[in-house]
Amino acid sequence: PDGAANKETPMATTVFDVPLSHPDKVLYPEQNVTKAALAAHYERHMALLLPHVAGRPLTLVRCPQGRAKACFYQRHPEGLPERMARDIGEDDGLAIVAEEPADIIELVQRGVLEIHVRGARVDRPERPDRLVFDLDPGEGVAFAAVRDAAFVLRERLADMDLAAFVKTTGGKGLHVMVPIERRVEWAEAKAWTRWVAAGLAGDFPDRYLINMSKAKRKGRIFIDYLRNDLKASAVAPYSTRAREGAPFAGPLTWEALEKLETPAPFHVGDTLTQDSWKDVGAVRQRLRGKDVKTAVNA
Ligand code: ATP
Ligand code: MN
Ligand code: MN
Repeated sequence: PDGAANKETPMATTVFDVPLSHPDKVLYPEQNVTKAALAAHYERHMALLLPHVAGRPLTLVRCPQGRAKACFYQRHPEGLPERMARDIGEDDGLAIVAEEPADIIELVQRGVLEIHVRGARVDRPERPDRLVFDLDPGEGVAFAAVRDAAFVLRERLADMDLAAFVKTTGGKGLHVMVPIERRVEWAEAKAWTRWVAAGLAGDFPDRYLINMSKAKRKGRIFIDYLRNDLKASAVAPYSTRAREGAPFAGPLTWEALEKLETPAPFHVGDTLTQDSWKDVGAVRQRLRGKDVKTAVNA
């Protein structure tokens, strides 16, 4: 009808058939990012994100009043749609699982600002298919050194015939992810990641450490292998962070990492179109048995 073209396009309040209440609620006050804008971020990246999130137990960071107010971690499905609750045989409660686009938008609707995933899938939570080396720079470490650490680690892994993938976290560090076939259980996988990290720290003790102690981290990079455990998680690719600047975690190609100057280049409103992790699903590789044995006995 006449005049329709002059009307301002109303802000979409339904995304993937999920109605958003209070779409104009501001979740990131500094950037004025609203719930509708957050939903739009997930809508735009849905096809890229879902393969890395679907079917894995989730941990959420929920900030119902936005990132400036109280936020809490959530590992169990209270307040979520029933279809997102899954019994995976754990005695502390049900796991949260997303399978489809609407599930992700249901999280946005509930003020979820961070989506974290386990390194295993709900059908076999005890057997990891993704290991993560979480590179955490201590005080005074330049990003260039974190970048170098990722490349050094990548080379070590390549020496063991393992392909690895890298992403920004939206924070200060990087995550290096190794997809594996589901052969070993967490105890072995964790021992293996500790062994790899300890190897690096042993060779470059002035650059890297695997010790948790914050005081000792100054000027060095903590190679955090502790993400590799049954109930541990790491931020999902394309997940937003409840941090200043509305950053999100972004997969990178190794080529793109070479040119990256800052740790958190992606923010809500930015659109990644290239699938930097497109090869992840096709990788078939496993940890060498002798390395696992060495690691477990170390
Ligand atoms: P950065 O690059 O700034 O280190 P990050 O996401 O790697 O960002 P870390 O503090 O190193 O942040 O934490 C690594 C992972 O540990 C997080 O991605 C998150 O999944 C998990 N984590 C951290 N703190 C908690 C917590 N209190 N409860 C549950 N999981 C947590
Ligand atoms: Mn980290
Ligand atoms: Mn860490």
